Amino acid sequence: MKRIYVLDAFHPSGPEWLEGKVELIPFGDPRAKNWHEDADGVMVRMHPLTEDDFARAGRLKAVVKQGVGVNTIDLDAARRHGITVANTPGINSEAVSEMALALALAVTRRVPQFDRMIRAGEPIERPKFLGFALQGKTVGVIGMGNIGVRAARKFQAAFDCRILAYDPYYAPRNGKDPWAQVPHERLDDLDALCSQSDLLTVHVPLTDQTRDMISAKRLALMKPNGIVINVSRGGIVNEADLHDALASGHLFGAGIDVWTEREPPEQSHPLLSLPNVVATPHAGGGTVETQQQSSLKVAQELYSILQG
Ligand code: NAD
Repeated sequence: MKRIYVLDAFHPSGPEWLEGKVELIPFGDPRAKNWHEDADGVMVRMHPLTEDDFARAGRLKAVVKQGVGVNTIDLDAARRHGITVANTPGINSEAVSEMALALALAVTRRVPQFDRMIRAGEPIERPKFLGFALQGKTVGVIGMGNIGVRAARKFQAAFDCRILAYDPYYAPRNGKDPWAQVPHERLDDLDALCSQSDLLTVHVPLTDQTRDMISAKRLALMKPNGIVINVSRGGIVNEADLHDALASGHLFGAGIDVWTEREPPEQSHPLLSLPNVVATPHAGGGTVETQQQSSLKVAQELYSILQG
């Protein structure tokens, strides 16, 4: 029987499906610290996998990661050691794109800020705390993949937004053209997209090319009172530059689900000192529905790879 280790906390749907089919070492089992010795396969969510892990795991054939971002896994090392790595793209796209809208509304209508003030018993002079409407605004979507297209569609359907899209690597998938689902204007110049958008929403993977893609120069190009939403990966929006653009009053606010150093960020993180930042702890895919579906998909995919 193949031996599978669950190296992160998963919804029970996947591990339950594997029971009886493989020898399953559940998350939290003390045996998991020696997984390198005899694992045929591992299920991961955020658990990093390095060259050293792959070198030590002599029996390992496959890794399946929940979600789409695989930046926590050294893919080159996995390839060198002949280990298959798979992920579960697309399953959490609706949930993550919903989070982009949740953050956008929370920022524009100051929902967490009002909530904090009411709970603290602070007097609120409402005219000093006006929000901004999303209706009819221009939304710049960076990365029009599974999540970006859905976010664009939601902003358009809910608020009649004009959609500008930047994605030089876009290609139709499985003969389908996802962009056809959303009327949009394609811009090949990211600076132009930044300068024309009221709200930027970031949906690219973290790569050498996308690290610090939204930095001081591009934030300065944004219209006064612009809004930045990042539900993609920490490090794509430069946090220090975002802090300065918010603290100076140039931007109206930001909604950040993903963080550069630590998730969730330390309480002392400079962005958390700003009332116009809405922070969530990498929770974009965190709905009951997506966790249940993704966990099952990871288990089935891993089983199928190990069956050969
Ligand atoms: P996807 O692969 O379907 O889409 C990514 C898009 O980015 C592609 O269309 C690609 O062409 C484009 N792209 C790549 N490099 C680019 C560049 N340099 N400039 C412009 N566009 C570029 O992936 P997806 O499912 O839409 O997910 C997007 C990202 O969202 C993931 O990589 C992941 O980091 C993040 N994510 C976050 C959460 C969360 O919980 N917050 C959950 C899932 C995914």
